[in-house]
Amino acid sequence: MSKDIVTARDDFPILKTLVNEHPLTYLDNAATTQKPQTVIDALTEFYSTYNSNIHRGNHTLAARATQAHEEVRARVARYIGAAHPHEVIFTRNTTESINLVAYAFGDAFVHEGDEIVVTQLEHHSNYVPWQLLCQRKNAHFRVVPFDSNGDLDLQVLGSLLTEKTRLLAINHISNSLGTVNPLENIIPLAHSHGIPVLVDAAQSVQHIAHNVQELDADFYAFSGHKIYGPTGIGVLYGKEEWLEKMPPFLSGGEMIDQVTAERTTFNQLPFKFEAGTPNIAGAIGLGAAIAYLEQFDFADLMAYEEALLAYGLTQLSQIPGLILYGNPRRRSGVLPFNIEGLQHYDVGVLLDTLGVAVRTGQHCTQPIMDALCVSGTIRASLALYSSREDIDALTDALRRVLKMLKRHK
Ligand code: PMP
Repeated sequence: MSKDIVTARDDFPILKTLVNEHPLTYLDNAATTQKPQTVIDALTEFYSTYNSNIHRGNHTLAARATQAHEEVRARVARYIGAAHPHEVIFTRNTTESINLVAYAFGDAFVHEGDEIVVTQLEHHSNYVPWQLLCQRKNAHFRVVPFDSNGDLDLQVLGSLLTEKTRLLAINHISNSLGTVNPLENIIPLAHSHGIPVLVDAAQSVQHIAHNVQELDADFYAFSGHKIYGPTGIGVLYGKEEWLEKMPPFLSGGEMIDQVTAERTTFNQLPFKFEAGTPNIAGAIGLGAAIAYLEQFDFADLMAYEEALLAYGLTQLSQIPGLILYGNPRRRSGVLPFNIEGLQHYDVGVLLDTLGVAVRTGQHCTQPIMDALCVSGTIRASLALYSSREDIDALTDALRRVLKMLKRHK
């Protein structure tokens, strides 16, 4: 029997803390999620009982650490539906995963006059690496705009995919608007032109269905810290056929086969892309996070979060002067808004005095903020332990903030 989502809250010790003498209402989950006790315990257990470097050692601890590390690779592969564990490369985070592709794929396959297509809905992490690649290669950087609802303009997208396009880089869910991009249509369209697709799954792999083979993603990047795991560990999935053809990104120990003064040959996948000592504890923590997530029925989890988002949208729309951003065909996890006449930053600081943690500003998406003609937004974002009580705490706190500010006028 799968675990009941309403019990999840009890598994996260930090959710019992007080902030500014108020019970913590944590609604900054798109920035990072909190960690269940099982993840915290896995880190402690590693460091207190079998800490060792991996792959090279021939002693007991090294063997145990290596086995645990490689078991996580297999677990990640199962979790995302990869065909092989060696298609899973450990990185530091989504940003490093995307940079790996921008450098290694970019070096081998992007040339002067070629085009890379991204969207206006991207996080800077899936925008700047492609812009810089285009500058290095004298290639063209093409951006698909979004419409007034926050949905991508699929007609423009279709027209930008040409024989010159070398790659489409696109997120599954926008971290600023929560738009769920219809990758089930977009990826086949790109593939019909022979264009590979990199999916930024930083905001989706924990919230919606995520089978890389069903999606037919060529590359798929996400961060451990946004799916209840530790910081400093991320994943790049790549189809074997691409990874085999790409040169290494970082070089040094571990990624080599033979090193002589004349030349160096490279290790097999995935190690070709994992230079140096990896974040072993981080990988083990990520394995514990996925094991935690796997206790739930994923369809239940999606339905729970969807209902909570709908509740949040309704409750927020009743706050006087609140401006909600975007009305995409499908939205997940994110409630973006401002309050007329108030600075997003000031509202965030005042909410914090009442124990409510939200994020304010550009959310690393300046192109989105520019298109909305705002300097930033207030973003409340959900996780599996979020509840109606969190939404009510947010809306109560917003009403109190509005009252406080009226009194000071
Ligand atoms: N892409 C998206 C859609 C994100 O939301 C984030 C984090 N906010 C990133 C990329 C970058 O993630 P990280 O900082 O963990 O590399």
